[in-house]
Amino acid sequence: MHSTLPQNNNINIFPIKAFKDNYIWVIQEKLNGIIIDPGEAKPVLEKLKRQNINLMAILITHKHYDHTGGVEELIKHNPDVQVFGPENIEFNFEYTIVNEGDVISILGTKVKLSVIETPGHTLDHVVYVDEAHLFCGDTLFACGCGKLFEGSYSEMFKSLSKISSLNPETKVYCAHEYTKKNIQFALTVDKENNQLIQRYNRLKHVEITIPSILKEELETNPFLRAKTIEEFKLIRKRKDEF
Ligand SMILES: [Zn+2]
Repeated sequence: MHSTLPQNNNINIFPIKAFKDNYIWVIQEKLNGIIIDPGEAKPVLEKLKRQNINLMAILITHKHYDHTGGVEELIKHNPDVQVFGPENIEFNFEYTIVNEGDVISILGTKVKLSVIETPGHTLDHVVYVDEAHLFCGDTLFACGCGKLFEGSYSEMFKSLSKISSLNPETKVYCAHEYTKKNIQFALTVDKENNQLIQRYNRLKHVEITIPSILKEELETNPFLRAKTIEEFKLIRKRKDEF
C-alpha cells in the first residue's frame, strides 16, 4: 500500500496548540501552509502571521467541534483557502469532500496527500497520509486510539489495521496530547513490554510527545497490538474506565 503514496519533499511540520490538549498541525512549504483540524482560529491566525505563512488549505479529519470550530473564521480571513473533509460535516459553506483512495493536491504547493477512511471514533473519520507522514486526527493516538463514539469495535479494528500496514517509519501526527496517560494505561495491559517501559521513561517529562513513529506504536500501542477484534474490544472497554 505505502509504495503508492505521494512523496512530499521540502516540507516542515509543526504544531499549534489549541484548547487544553489539541494540536493543529501545520504543513509548511516555503511561505505556504496547510493546516489540519483547526478547532480554533485565533492561535492559527497569530502563528501564521508571525511566521509569514499564507494559508492555502484546511484539512478536516472528522466533524467534532474541537477539530472544525475555527474553519469559518479562518475562511473569513482567507477567502480563497481550500477546505477538504469527509462527507456530511455541517458547514454552511462549500468544501471538497474526500473519500478513500483520493489523492488531494494543494494549490500553490507541491504537496499531495492520500486519503484513508478510518471509521470508528466517528463514522466520517478520514486520515491524510503521504509516504512518511500520517495525520490521523482522533483515530490513532500515541500509545492509544480514539474513543468509539459512533463506529463499532470491528470498524475501528479494521481502520487501525489499515494504519498498521503503512510504512513503519511513518511519523504519526495525532490531534491530542494524551500520551502519558495512554502509556500509563498501556502498562496495565502489557507491563512486561520493555519497549513500552522505555517509552514511558523517555517521555515522562516531555511536554510535546508528538509526532511518534509508527514502528514504536506497533511495538507499544495496545490497540495496534491486539490480534483480534475481541481482544481490541476488551482493551478499549478497559481504557474507557481507566
Ligand atoms: Zn473527535
